Amino acid sequence: MLVVGCGIGGLCTALGLARRGHRVRVFDQSDPFEHTGSGLVLSPNGIRALDRLAPEAGRRVREEAVPGPHTFNYVSHTGQVKVRIPPTDLVARWKAPMVAMRRSLLHRILLDALPKGALRIGSRFLLATETPDTVTATFADGTTAHGDLLVGADGVWSMARKHVGAKRRPRFLGISSMRGITPAPEHSYPGGFFSQGPGLQIFANPLRGGELYWAATLNATEYEWPQLHPEYARERLAALVRDWHAPIPDLVAHTPVDQLVVTDIHDMPTLPRWTTPRVALLGDAAHPMAPFLGQGANAAIEDAAVFCRLVEETLAHDDTPPGRRRAMRAYEAARVSRATRISRMSRRIGMAGQWENRAAIAARDTAMRLAFKYGGDGPDTWLYGYET
Ligand SMILES: Cc1cc2nc3c(=O)[nH]c(=O)nc-3n(C[C@H](O)[C@H](O)[C@H](O)COP(=O)(O)OP(=O)(O)OC[C@H]3O[C@@H](n4cnc5c(N)ncnc54)[C@H](O)[C@@H]3O)c2cc1C
Repeated sequence: MLVVGCGIGGLCTALGLARRGHRVRVFDQSDPFEHTGSGLVLSPNGIRALDRLAPEAGRRVREEAVPGPHTFNYVSHTGQVKVRIPPTDLVARWKAPMVAMRRSLLHRILLDALPKGALRIGSRFLLATETPDTVTATFADGTTAHGDLLVGADGVWSMARKHVGAKRRPRFLGISSMRGITPAPEHSYPGGFFSQGPGLQIFANPLRGGELYWAATLNATEYEWPQLHPEYARERLAALVRDWHAPIPDLVAHTPVDQLVVTDIHDMPTLPRWTTPRVALLGDAAHPMAPFLGQGANAAIEDAAVFCRLVEETLAHDDTPPGRRRAMRAYEAARVSRATRISRMSRRIGMAGQWENRAAIAARDTAMRLAFKYGGDGPDTWLYGYET
């Protein structure tokens, strides 16, 4: 089995396949730690999926990441608390916690669980060629690799996507993000907060070791922020949040430049196809999504768990080309509507969060208060309760 991309989606797929006895080779164009700066949040659905793929990795995530529940605050940029969410026992309810961690820690945990020698770095995937018996990956250095199936987990700008006939390019949402990690300053929201001002939102969550992970999203034109020198990008963001509530101005100003990650935000309308008889897309390659629900990596882990289960179930009875085709189709059928739903909701929430018009913001905040007060579970049940 060939896996292209050693991001969270590719590594989780490789772990799940290896655990089921498949010989897996993972190819990436770059060292995983070159692009695993900043932090992320894993939610119960993602952690339960990880448990299925690699129980040891699931155990380490619980042990080494910072668990909830915390009191979480939705705050205006002036510091007025809009909604305070009290701690809930997510583990009792969803059989897994919500955790925040450095991305590099999650990568370390996944790589530790990978069979030795399975990863090849410096392999830029160009194209796949299928025959009835095999799939061949061709890389930019002229080398090739053959396998039964190929999983394209090569991220937002996927090359594997072309192989399934996708013509679309990810669409820029008019939003850029800046993320950072800094020693946590003293402040009144130790459990984390989400602050919204006109055209700009900031989320912050504690990490282990007294650090704070934060992520800002701001209205922008494409390429504008990512091409700035990080020091200047930080300076510009610091100017935008100069009058925001504590600890935001300090948080931004004191984040070391080497702990900053600046990216544009893209998503993509649902692709008509994710698979061919021997190639499947997974993670951001299949469904780039806006980050506002914090689900891109969680959805990639879900994809991996469903893919590995369906490959195992189908090939156990019918390890023939039609059997493989059925497994691929079953994977696509199981995942497209779920990923589309998450992606749409994330986009809707995110775009509303970036509004600049004061009347619209006031209406949004009222709707949010009412939703938290009377909305019962909100999205939690379908989002966190999903089983792979
Ligand atoms: C601001 C922000 C905050 C986010 N926060 C969260 C969060 O809290 N929780 C969450 O679940 N998600 C979050 N996400 C989304 C999450 O980061 C992604 O959805 C997730 O990392 C996707 O994983 P992946 O494995 O599909 O792709 P990637 O992580 O992009 O990995 C793709 C890999 O493929 C490699 N690659 C690319 N092209 C090639 C090629 N041609 N040949 C070989 N290798 C190649 C790359 O080097 C890379 O290693 C956030 C995203 C953003 C922008």
